[in-house]
Amino acid sequence: MNLKICFRLSIIFFAFIEKAYTLSKNEDSPIKNFDAVIVGSGPMGCTFARKLIEAGYKVAMVDVGASESNPPGQHFINAYRYQVDSNAFKNSVKAHMHLLSVPTSDDAYPDTLDQISTFENGTIHLNQNPDQDPQLNLRAEAASYCWWHGYSLEWRNAKTSKKSSELPLAVRYEKGDNPDEIPFNFRTGPHDILRKENFENKNFVLIEQHLAQILHPKIDNTSIIDGLIIKNLLKRGQNEILIKTKVFIICAGAVNTPQLLYNSMIKNSNWDIEIPALGKNLCEQTMTTCQIVLSKEIVKKMLEDPVWSEDVKKHKEAYPNDPIPIPFGVPSPHCSIPYTDKRPWYCEVFGGSSGTSYVDNRVTLGFNCFDAPHNSEELNNRVEFSKKNKDIYGMPQPMFYVRTSEKDAEINHKMFSDMTQTALSMGGFLPGNEPKFLPPGSALHMTGTVRMGTSKETSVVDTNLCVHGFRNFTLELMASSQQVKAITANPTLTSVALAIKSANDIIKKLKEGAFDF
Ligand SMILES: Cc1cc2nc3c(=O)[nH]c(=O)nc-3n(C[C@H](O)[C@H](O)[C@H](O)COP(=O)(O)OP(=O)(O)OC[C@H]3O[C@@H](n4cnc5c(N)ncnc54)[C@H](O)[C@@H]3O)c2cc1C
Repeated sequence: MNLKICFRLSIIFFAFIEKAYTLSKNEDSPIKNFDAVIVGSGPMGCTFARKLIEAGYKVAMVDVGASESNPPGQHFINAYRYQVDSNAFKNSVKAHMHLLSVPTSDDAYPDTLDQISTFENGTIHLNQNPDQDPQLNLRAEAASYCWWHGYSLEWRNAKTSKKSSELPLAVRYEKGDNPDEIPFNFRTGPHDILRKENFENKNFVLIEQHLAQILHPKIDNTSIIDGLIIKNLLKRGQNEILIKTKVFIICAGAVNTPQLLYNSMIKNSNWDIEIPALGKNLCEQTMTTCQIVLSKEIVKKMLEDPVWSEDVKKHKEAYPNDPIPIPFGVPSPHCSIPYTDKRPWYCEVFGGSSGTSYVDNRVTLGFNCFDAPHNSEELNNRVEFSKKNKDIYGMPQPMFYVRTSEKDAEINHKMFSDMTQTALSMGGFLPGNEPKFLPPGSALHMTGTVRMGTSKETSVVDTNLCVHGFRNFTLELMASSQQVKAITANPTLTSVALAIKSANDIIKKLKEGAFDF
């Protein structure tokens, strides 16, 4: 062992002993003898967990959020209340979003507070993020911090030659015999990915409301991650636990994954593997939206369709005073207009869920369009993390540096105009939901921050999602952040496919003993 290693050892030794002590004191700690730890219980974390458990390995999953559904991991919308009241669901989604980068505001500053005191206090957003340039911010970019929140996995056939197509959703549709009964739309969430039998498997443990804080490289071989410090958020005092295992898989989202890496780099004096592309190449889509109230002509035409005539007749007989002749319980439409080189954006048109209780959702349509940004690399679009300011969980505060290229600005203008014209051909606008650009970050489809590639200079992970320079650190990259360029469809299914490939690689290496250091 050379001098450098001895020096590192002396600095880190006591810290490790202390953490290990915390763990050993915690006799009933479930975090022992696992093959892999996964940070994040979203679709990616659950994909890895399922693959590893089914291959016979032991998995500990850590998430900062709390279980909020029964069974855990259900898509929220699967609760009866949201099935029958999609407006309530829409508002509940908003309530679960935590804005990642709220810049300091000069206005409305409470003069009873010492300005400096707010730096340390995450509950007061004023001055939480003083170094964020508001002009370069993605002010709507959000994390859910919510265990097992679940969003629909959806995909579409990008190669379709049709101008529009049904938007296939990972949704189970159930309709009873009674035509008046509202049919259920059960959406896929992390629970469906992991599966009940794996969740209940003795080889799986879920550690909720624990924050993954710092990954430690091995002292005498920094290409191996040796431990992860997690913090029990519900405990005061000795609340940090050291997890030691063979493989470390981080699936914490496009901002929180690089945040955990960054925190680990600045907190470890022996971290000597550079990750120059971390947080770079950030792509986020511009999103335009509106809500349409269908015109009488369109409703009339729709109802003249022989497919519906029998149901419409029955509905009119049962509800002679209903001014809308559309039967209750008709599944809401979901269509997509695919991305093409000529029209470089994609659109979703979907029924229901106006978000306002005064409108009958049978006659409203949501209309969203998403671009596929170019030039993010040239513009040096990125997320960085503050050394001095912390977010509300005590992790380094994210700061965005994002510009729109002239080319994209031009495309976005066309996208907006196209959406408006198309919407007008279907009806009027729901008051308050006229066509608009949503604030930057609203698409919540960020990619690129832990990009996949072959060069360490321009990417963070290799094609198996292992962090360049590491042997057991499957930065399993999170979510959609590993995708190479901007996306031309919603990201989750592609991310899951990449996670399966990466999990297969990990399983192969576990079988070969490649992680028995
Ligand atoms: C409202 C909304 C609607 C969406 N709709 C769609 C859609 O229709 N189709 C689609 O393809 N995509 C959609 N998306 C995007 C989709 O949700 C993401 O692509 C997907 O959730 C990413 O999965 P993930 O597992 O990588 O990350 P996430 O699902 O974000 O999960 C990350 C998990 O990590 C946890 N975490 C973060 N930091 C830490 C830490 N330090 N320690 C411990 N735990 C941590 C979080 O609590 C979270 O549970 C939507 C997103 C939102 C917000």
